[in-house]
Amino acid sequence: MVSRQTKIVATIGPACESVSAMSELLAAGVDVFRLNLSHGDIDGHLERLERVRTASALTGVEVAVLADLPGPKIRVGTFPDGGVEMVPGESIALVESNRGSSDTEICVDVDGLFSGLSKGDQVVLGDGNIMLEVDSVTGGPVSAKVINGGRIQGSPGVHVPSERLSASTPTAEDLVFAEKMATAGVEFIAVSFVRRADDVEQVRQVVGNRAQLIAKIETNSALADLVHIIEASDGVMVARGDLGIDCPLEEVPHLQKMIIRECVERGVPVITATQMLESMISAAVPTRAEASDVANAVFDGTDAVMLSGETAVGKHPVVVVETMSRIAERAERQASYRGWADRLGRHQRGDWTSVEDRITAALGHAASQAARDIGATAILCCTKSGRTARAMARFRPEATLIGLSPDEQVVRSLRLSWGVDPLTVDLYDSTDEMVWYAVEKAVDEGRVQHGDTVLVLAGSPGGTSGAAADVLRVVQVA
Ligand code: PEP
Repeated sequence: MVSRQTKIVATIGPACESVSAMSELLAAGVDVFRLNLSHGDIDGHLERLERVRTASALTGVEVAVLADLPGPKIRVGTFPDGGVEMVPGESIALVESNRGSSDTEICVDVDGLFSGLSKGDQVVLGDGNIMLEVDSVTGGPVSAKVINGGRIQGSPGVHVPSERLSASTPTAEDLVFAEKMATAGVEFIAVSFVRRADDVEQVRQVVGNRAQLIAKIETNSALADLVHIIEASDGVMVARGDLGIDCPLEEVPHLQKMIIRECVERGVPVITATQMLESMISAAVPTRAEASDVANAVFDGTDAVMLSGETAVGKHPVVVVETMSRIAERAERQASYRGWADRLGRHQRGDWTSVEDRITAALGHAASQAARDIGATAILCCTKSGRTARAMARFRPEATLIGLSPDEQVVRSLRLSWGVDPLTVDLYDSTDEMVWYAVEKAVDEGRVQHGDTVLVLAGSPGGTSGAAADVLRVVQVA
């Protein structure tokens, strides 16, 4: 059993897609595998999902799977072989055409993408290193000046300010992929390039309750509708790569803290993503700045930290996961989680939740306070849908947090939530049975010892409050 509370999401790619490589990553501490649907075809991803399930069965480690939808990725027409050099200060035309790009024009086969731009807008190519600024939109094709130059080749992605993008999100392709992935049984589907809560709702209509939806916050527009997006989602990703293109780079650390705070307050799991240990794609140790970045995300209160290229195409996927795990575990010893619980205890009396959520939140707060007062070793959350365990995790309790559910997909999905150690239990019809068997299971699995005092949170089966949890018991384990 790992004592780390912050969860690790690892992206699957060529460097780790065999059953044996996945098994090693599970042993190293991966909680959630991410399939990046921007790369490869859907059948390949369905095969990888099968391999994850095989690796999980072989290792006995329950793991959740997150399918990350591509969103509207727009690529420019292919540059000539060998690429071209973009020189700072030079002008280049931005043309809507299906031609290839060259050193005098960049072409996209999307009507309205460039003609909707305004003077001063920034256009970014590839991973963000090449930046252009629009200097004229009248009298012929849009013209831009190269601000950050360099060599560019192939057909890189192009990024225009999100408020100028008329393409709808989710795309028709996203909805097809979401349907396939939900049918295949992934726990989470991430919606890329979300700009408003309705973008998440559209995927929800296709997926129903077959998978939980993660909103990727990577646009300026999403920040304007952030609270609605969080409330419409089952989880959030701070997608710092694209966010740092759509917003000024210097805003990213502050946006990260703000988004994490808003999510934790609402009990919505939040993932901090992108470039966390980037140099480990090739190096065996991270930079000191990267180690600090992981620790700071922990201090910010994130539920999970994510690895992208580091595990997908990196040279040392297992070492990366072990390194991230060590940094997070060490940071947790310094994090001021008690402050969170105290502040959230006051905050929950606001009017942003329904009566049912307020009852669940009040019980969670009572449990975190009682666990401290009594010196309880564990808080057991009996949860059909996962709601009670997530509501409890929001208080970042010091006692071991165990989520018990009869639904195996829920058990796997709880691997994303801060601190939750999920276990499968049978379904019982009475609160007494639920409490009794939850304690027995925790003892059998070695999570709780005889003589311990534990708290059990549960929803009474015939309960009329509508709350996820309406019973809090103190149990002395005989
Ligand atoms: C990001 O932009 O940080 C991100 C996680 O999204 P993508 O899928 O584009 O890597």
